[in-house]
Amino acid sequence: MNEILDLIVVGAGPTGIAIGAEARRQGLSVLLIDKGPLTAAIQGYPTFMEFFTTRDRLEIANVPFSIPDVKPTRRQALAYYRMVVEHYDIPLALYEEVVEVRKEGEEFAVHDFTVHTRRMQGPRTLRARSVALATGYFFNPRRLGAPGEDLPWVSHRYKEPYPHFGQDVVIVGAGNTAAEAALDLWRNSVRVTLIHRGAGVKAGVKYWVKPDMENRIEEGSIPARFNTEVRAFLPEGAVELMTPNGPEVLPAQAAYVLIGYQPDAEFERRCGVEVDAETLIPAHDPETCESNVPGLYIAGTLQAGRWTDRIFIENSRAHGPKIVAHLKSRLAAVPAMR
Ligand SMILES: Cc1cc2nc3c(=O)[nH]c(=O)nc-3n(C[C@H](O)[C@H](O)[C@H](O)COP(=O)(O)OP(=O)(O)OC[C@H]3O[C@@H](n4cnc5c(N)ncnc54)[C@H](O)[C@@H]3O)c2cc1C
Repeated sequence: MNEILDLIVVGAGPTGIAIGAEARRQGLSVLLIDKGPLTAAIQGYPTFMEFFTTRDRLEIANVPFSIPDVKPTRRQALAYYRMVVEHYDIPLALYEEVVEVRKEGEEFAVHDFTVHTRRMQGPRTLRARSVALATGYFFNPRRLGAPGEDLPWVSHRYKEPYPHFGQDVVIVGAGNTAAEAALDLWRNSVRVTLIHRGAGVKAGVKYWVKPDMENRIEEGSIPARFNTEVRAFLPEGAVELMTPNGPEVLPAQAAYVLIGYQPDAEFERRCGVEVDAETLIPAHDPETCESNVPGLYIAGTLQAGRWTDRIFIENSRAHGPKIVAHLKSRLAAVPAMR
């Protein structure tokens, strides 16, 4: 409680790691806190996924991503980001959830925050001159709100096809994650049906995935129900639908609701950040990443609010250097405390 860190970063994904590395490079004291393991989101991605971004654009903190493949796999990315943490010896507090960040005043001439956490050993409070929120969205999948959505065979994350060989599986959604999961299942001898409340595969699906998906639907390999709502997941292993032609019940041994993710706006508000009710975009200055709370920064994909596909690793790598440069200039203005 007595030590006052220059910077606490909430979230140890690629963004948090990039901020932590830059802080270490610039000689600031920093701690990354994550409610899960290091790079929890990437760990949760499909086991055999390949990034759509080339390795050079996933690089952070001047650490080369030297692999022979152009596009890294999930496993290579996990190893790379861990290596960046080791290289800069970034202090971590993992499996510790930040429940609130409070601005306590300006007694040190720069901003003074308390960070309230809970972990297995109980709650604790830390102090810092500044805080960066890099909490992403992946831990918070969107839900349909349909009855039965918490049944054990209904999931909001897709990992791999092998448990489903020979089964009937329903995919709800028609964006990238849903389309890629449906294709992966079908290519591994799973009977898949795609359900979507819209009229077709979403326009934003990757240009090489969309025709593949549409062709499978057209040839009948992956049956689809568009303009269709899920009414319920039934305990006996079936999905009740309302299609344009009336009600329908599909048998299913597994269902994946893959309709996107959204940031935890309530958490941001608890930290004093103003979040737009419609877009969930937090108030922030794009030049410095500082929020409406002086000394509290917003970084990474969290800046995009609901539009999680607008800011990703490759176009948010500059947030770390921006935040650290801004913080350093603040700290330099009060030499007595450094
Ligand atoms: C399947 C898939 C494929 C993708 N492929 C690419 C790609 O090819 N290229 C690309 O650039 N992007 C890609 N993305 C997007 C990219 O992975 C995300 O933009 C990126 O992970 C965001 O990094 P982040 O550090 O901002 O957030 P995250 O990686 O989500 O990290 C946020 C961290 O914050 C932690 N956290 C949340 N709340 C709290 C709290 N209250 N207390 C403590 N910790 C907390 C979480 O546990 C998590 O570890 C992909 C995304 C998905 C889903």
